[in-house]
Amino acid sequence: MEYTGVGVSPGRIIGSVRQMPHPVSEPPVGERLAADVTAEDASAALRTASKAVQASLTARSVGAQGAGREVLEATALMASDPMLIKAAVKLITAGSSPERAIWDAAASVAEMLHNLGGYMAERATDVLDVRSRIVAELRGVPAPGIPLSDTPFILVAEDLAPADTATLDPANVIALVTSSGGPQSHTAIIARALGLPAVVAAVGVTAVTDGTLVYVDGAAGTIAVGPGADEVAAAKAWAATAAALTVFDGNGRTSDGHLVPLLSNVGGAADAVKAAAAGAQGVGLLRTEFCFLDRDTEPTIDEQVAAYRGVFDAFPGMKVVLRTLDAGADKPLPFLTDASEPNPALGVRGYRTDFTSPGVLERQLQAVAQAAEGSDADVWVMAPMISTADEAGDFAALCAAAGLKTPGVMVEVPSAALTSEAILKRVDFVSLGTNDLTQYAMAADRQLGPLAALNTPWQPAVLQLVRLTVAGALAEGHGKPVGVCGEAAADPALAVVLVGLGVATLSMTARALSAVGTVLASVTLAEAQKLAAVALAAPNANEARASVRAHLPILEELGL
Ligand code: PEP
Ligand code: MG
Repeated sequence: MEYTGVGVSPGRIIGSVRQMPHPVSEPPVGERLAADVTAEDASAALRTASKAVQASLTARSVGAQGAGREVLEATALMASDPMLIKAAVKLITAGSSPERAIWDAAASVAEMLHNLGGYMAERATDVLDVRSRIVAELRGVPAPGIPLSDTPFILVAEDLAPADTATLDPANVIALVTSSGGPQSHTAIIARALGLPAVVAAVGVTAVTDGTLVYVDGAAGTIAVGPGADEVAAAKAWAATAAALTVFDGNGRTSDGHLVPLLSNVGGAADAVKAAAAGAQGVGLLRTEFCFLDRDTEPTIDEQVAAYRGVFDAFPGMKVVLRTLDAGADKPLPFLTDASEPNPALGVRGYRTDFTSPGVLERQLQAVAQAAEGSDADVWVMAPMISTADEAGDFAALCAAAGLKTPGVMVEVPSAALTSEAILKRVDFVSLGTNDLTQYAMAADRQLGPLAALNTPWQPAVLQLVRLTVAGALAEGHGKPVGVCGEAAADPALAVVLVGLGVATLSMTARALSAVGTVLASVTLAEAQKLAAVALAAPNANEARASVRAHLPILEELGL
């Protein structure tokens, strides 16, 4: 029995399956206490359940690190919060079932915290998480979120939300498989960042029962149930390759010495420190919205300075490209985006939030300038979701007003790729966001599993847009650089094609630096250009990928 999906993070591994539990459903509105249960007994059951949830979260926090540990500790405290339990017991005494009582009590507490604003408002999510856990405990069903296990397992889910992955421990979860989600979805991005083999859009895989032994090939995109001797040998060989591919020498180049700095994509200081240790030659994309994903309110200038400074300090004397807040679509920020938009990917996201929430961008640029002032990093700033040269010009003016020297923009919208010459007359560099460029070129939501085949940067239309962006930069005449910071840069075969197309820098998750660096160093610039021509000549995405890979046997040797 084999399932096929889209391989999004390489690796060959054997392990036993754990399915992600279903989310906890809301107890029926007005659900009453059962006739044979007293209010005292129901209240006691609720207290026991809340204590059990607290104990399990506390136990997990001990083994967790960093932000994951903080999330767990805060949630554990909330689980037996006296105010919450008291409010629920009051509802039980009035005749409510314990499940419904904790549901309603938590909703009131969450609303109250939300209205307090600031730090308290952010705790509202913890209360709602705790509520689901207590209801699951009362019902005797598995707790929501990543399953707990003493032994490593392959996590299978329909899809994962960014919040699910905050507590994902790569020592325990050894591969990710989802039945939904596309190659540019957040599950895919996070799997690559953690270096976990991953397959998305593997239809039917949620039917595999817990404990089943499977073989996952994250490059081929396959999941085989009941692995045989060949799979065991392949998994063993991969373990050796993976160990050899952990270090990058910090010098991105082709075999004939054409330099292509390999930079890293980071979401904050912790990532930046890891990226620097992995040999990144700078940061090609600091996703600043990742620093504030859990915020209901705009971070203060001081908070922003601290967050950005932590990244700058990890790269003294090196380039750090900071992207201004890219809120919207799959990364909503309540203080910038409107959750009721009918079509958020085409709505007010990225740079466009400056139209509806003026001032936030200016304050962010002020914070960036302050953080840059006290650091040795070479700070560049870019705006996401730019559609016109005028927008690029307006952004450059805001950067100049803040005292920031090197403004640039992302090329993620086909209109920007087609007008790169005009855009580069207004800013100093562009960076191709191939994840969004693909979804907008193909009109295919990057998060949707059924559209995964459309949503690959190997699509002829996407490769043409990359080619045209570089051609526009050449026509502009000042040698302004075109980089790539989308997931395409982390695919070693596509990275070679991008260099052949004239891309100057590649930015990726730190985990991919070594694989991309190794494969790039195995070809000359002329060979990369030839492979770019091969990819451009292919009639479709699959053939483009297959014919380029056929010219790069090193990929199969390394299991990439
Ligand atoms: C992209 O769209 O390619 C990109 C790098 O931005 P994000 O994935 O954060 O939308
Ligand atoms: Mg994008």
